[in-house]
Amino acid sequence: MLYCFAMDNALIHEILPVGWLQCNCSVVGDPETREAIVLDPGDEVERIQEILARHGLTVRAIVNTHAHIDHVGGLRKLHDATGAPVLMHSEDLELYRALEMQAAWIGMPVPEIATVDGLLREGDQVRWGRFAANVIHTPGHTPGSLCLHLPACGERSRTTVGEGTARGERGRTTTEAGKLFAGDTLFAGSIGRTDLWGGSFDEIMRSLQTKLLALPDETLVFPGHGPATTIGRERDSNPFLSR
Ligand SMILES: [Zn+2]
Ligand SMILES: [Zn+2]
Repeated sequence: MLYCFAMDNALIHEILPVGWLQCNCSVVGDPETREAIVLDPGDEVERIQEILARHGLTVRAIVNTHAHIDHVGGLRKLHDATGAPVLMHSEDLELYRALEMQAAWIGMPVPEIATVDGLLREGDQVRWGRFAANVIHTPGHTPGSLCLHLPACGERSRTTVGEGTARGERGRTTTEAGKLFAGDTLFAGSIGRTDLWGGSFDEIMRSLQTKLLALPDETLVFPGHGPATTIGRERDSNPFLSR
């Protein structure tokens, strides 16, 4: 049976801001099987490897939310170190192949390019250990931007205090929070820029409105930069999203 996670201790999740643009790299591991995925190893692969070693994790997949240099810089090194397949959306392959140009734009040395081992698209699942996360294609920041959604564990009974729960009856069942790895599509209080190659403001708004805001309010959001947030908080207070 596949786990979603009702309890945070059912999952290892380490967030490591890497490189000078401080891209949030996530290591998401199953404490039972010791299998993990790594999202957006943009740089500082040695530090990512330290986290993997500390938890005794084997990497099953390296998932890339989009092919901007700050998110893909360490793909090759991490692939060479772990043997895990590198996965991204086909619509960002062109951007990935232009890594040299991206490096020139921001005056960075060109990282070694990886072979992309698998292509992800809307509705695919990425599996590791007892977990499975859903791929949501969210074009707009780049054409192949994607988010990875690890859903909540269905419904879980919780004892609530208040009307209708006298004599210790079980309260209403409550859905625990899922997790969304949002790349540069959604940030706490902002959204991804759309003025770079392949960007589209109309598309990012459509991705946000029809796909990300369709998720439950409690969903924890881990953006590609900056602090974590929730769908509900962004729905209410993000100037790009609140009505
Ligand atoms: Zn980006
Ligand atoms: Zn970024």
